[in-house]
Amino acid sequence: MIVAIDGPAGSGKSTVARGLAARLGFRYVDTGAMYRALTWLALERRVELEDERSLAELAHGNPISFEGDRVWIGGDDVTESIRGARIDRVVSAVARHPQVRAIMRDRQRELAEGGDAVIEGRDIGTVVCPEAEVKVFLVADSAERARRRQAERPEIGAEALATDLRLRDERDAAQMQPATDAETVDTTALTVEDVVERIERLVEARARA
Ligand code: C5P
Repeated sequence: MIVAIDGPAGSGKSTVARGLAARLGFRYVDTGAMYRALTWLALERRVELEDERSLAELAHGNPISFEGDRVWIGGDDVTESIRGARIDRVVSAVARHPQVRAIMRDRQRELAEGGDAVIEGRDIGTVVCPEAEVKVFLVADSAERARRRQAERPEIGAEALATDLRLRDERDAAQMQPATDAETVDTTALTVEDVVERIERLVEARARA
């Protein structure tokens, strides 16, 4: 079974998806990490972030792989390096290119084919796995999203962080629509445990159907 979890930054996707995968014994696939890893490599190799063709070549020649919790690209373990504000601020510029998205989508589908998985991103329920058995779109109000992000990025001021989130939402808007058959869950006032349980119930209902 494929469980697709989409939503904006700070909606709780990663924590929920990871927790849910552990609970269900499913694999966890973080597609945002893939765009982040490619962005990291583009910055390393000084590839222009406007240059779609070069970015697509870079993506094509450097498949991203996951080893447990670790993320690899081009022979480098980038697990920690992709989590900073430097990547947060420019990743959408890389992810907006259709040629890049097509390569990522194919790789994400390959990863989805390996059996039961919880896959998180922006376009999983709509584009990558439209046939996913369970689709969830997480949302949260912007103040709560900023507060959560602040806990992960304590080095950045609250105002800068809120601006970063707002800009990223705007830039990601094109690929971030809930699937028509997705269940939208507002996580603002819910604990991670609440959200995981709610999705687990959807998975159980689907398994029985
Ligand atoms: O989820 P995360 O914040 O790590 O995603 C980083 C960025 O990768 C997003 O802001 C978005 O630009 C891009 N992304 C995407 N499609 C996905 C997952 C992430 O465009 N499925």
